[in-house]
Amino acid sequence: MTIELPGFLRGAAKGLLIGGEWVPARSGATFESINPSTGAPIVSVAAGDKRDVGDAVAAARRAFEGPWRRFTPAQRQNVLLQLADLVEAHSHELGLINAVDMGVPVARQRGGAAVEALRYFAGWATKLHGETIPNSARGNLFAYTRPEPVGVAGAIIPWNNPLPATIWKIAPALATGCTMVLKPSEEASLTPLRLGEIIQELDLPPGVINIVTGFGETAGAALAAHPDVDKIGFTGSITTGRLIVKAAADSNFKRVSLEMGGKSPDIIFADADLASAIPAASLAVFGNTGQVCIAGTRVFVERPVYDEVLDGMAKVAASLQVGNSLDPSTDIGPLVSAAQLERVTGYLDLAVAEGAKAVTGGARLSSGGLADGYFVEPTVYSEVHDDMRVVQEEIFGPVATVLPFDDVDEVIRRANNSRFGLAGGVWTRHLGRAHQVAHAINTGMVWVNTYGSVDPAVPFGGAKSSGWGNELSGHILQEYLNIKAVWINTE
Ligand code: NAD
Repeated sequence: MTIELPGFLRGAAKGLLIGGEWVPARSGATFESINPSTGAPIVSVAAGDKRDVGDAVAAARRAFEGPWRRFTPAQRQNVLLQLADLVEAHSHELGLINAVDMGVPVARQRGGAAVEALRYFAGWATKLHGETIPNSARGNLFAYTRPEPVGVAGAIIPWNNPLPATIWKIAPALATGCTMVLKPSEEASLTPLRLGEIIQELDLPPGVINIVTGFGETAGAALAAHPDVDKIGFTGSITTGRLIVKAAADSNFKRVSLEMGGKSPDIIFADADLASAIPAASLAVFGNTGQVCIAGTRVFVERPVYDEVLDGMAKVAASLQVGNSLDPSTDIGPLVSAAQLERVTGYLDLAVAEGAKAVTGGARLSSGGLADGYFVEPTVYSEVHDDMRVVQEEIFGPVATVLPFDDVDEVIRRANNSRFGLAGGVWTRHLGRAHQVAHAINTGMVWVNTYGSVDPAVPFGGAKSSGWGNELSGHILQEYLNIKAVWINTE
């Protein structure tokens, strides 16, 4: 069966969305988006730079000071509900674009999560309010607070899940009354750009949502450094996060929220239901070809069941169908780019050099029509220890390291032996131990007897070098709001 691909994937170069218009980059520069399953170019995309970012920020400022400010909470709620309906109606098309541009298999698309987030934040638009505060200041003074939108928000996102990543930024911005300039990843710009076209179907003032595609060092850096951007929501690597914090401090101290990397521990005790734990711990590493920030890549297994879990995970890894993202039987697609392939295969070489043993996988896949794409085998390593680089560094590929442990205190200490603190998992039937470990792991999220559940009502974020602040939930709204205190002399 051949899949009919969206017309969006053909034709002239994609432009930038600035002030409600699609425009080329001022420099005229473009870059090619590449299909990672085949290595073939798809369509070219405008490469915005500082001048285009300046235009987009100016458009966002005009919209913020102008008509968008007069939208009532109920009108903003309706905008989000309408966008949810449109995204739902286009979810098949958006899934195909994501499959071709980023390599997520068609059978594994989760567009529903983006729609749920839009509906969740629509509800918040009408529920943001200040408070009256009894106070003891001298005189007869009445004080109240007003949550006010921070203004122009910038969003810089990675490539690994572009639809939810875009919606997780846009939805709270619209709910709070901010305007936005979005900088998608150069590796996966097409889904956000098609979403931009869909947003144009809404009855929104021009400039509320702007999209500037381009490279990190040019477009991304210009957005982070722009003095008229009030907030940056960043999702991506620690290296870039550090540059963004510096740029914010060196320009206008814009507020920064950071969602960064992970090397999350997934801890399996001997009393766990291994029939559930083994496949779930495996998919927590191999899903999305391991290109998942919350991937549970350090799998700690209590020694009595170590061999059984190792063997089980290796069997799951070997059973996964790796292939072209458009093949409906594919479980695991390619890595996103040639650069990511080089990075991951570099770690596969390093693992061998460090003395790890590949129980399964460990190599690039290039037979059977996969030679031009960026495929690697799902890989499970034993004979690893905590201070190896492959155990400490985020690989962002389908690579599990499986480590034995002997007691609870030891595994808590080792689980926390990481610069990252994004997520973690605990598998046990012992209720007290489940809580003990869940509390002791220094991460933003912990799952017990499951892994990776996400819901828009539940905070999503990291501790330590994994980030500042949370995505989703009511908590993210505070990142888009200033709380103003108003004092009234009532005498
Ligand atoms: P990256 O940091 O290389 O790029 C992320 C974004 O930053 C891209 O849009 C890029 O163009 C831009 N950028 C690059 N250099 C920049 C600069 N100097 N100034 C401003 N912007 C710049 O990350 P990536 O490779 O796209 O994504 C993988 C990383 O993202 C991993 O570390 C992963 O864990 C992390 N991630 C985290 C979460 C989370 O929610 N915690 C979710 C997804 C991905």
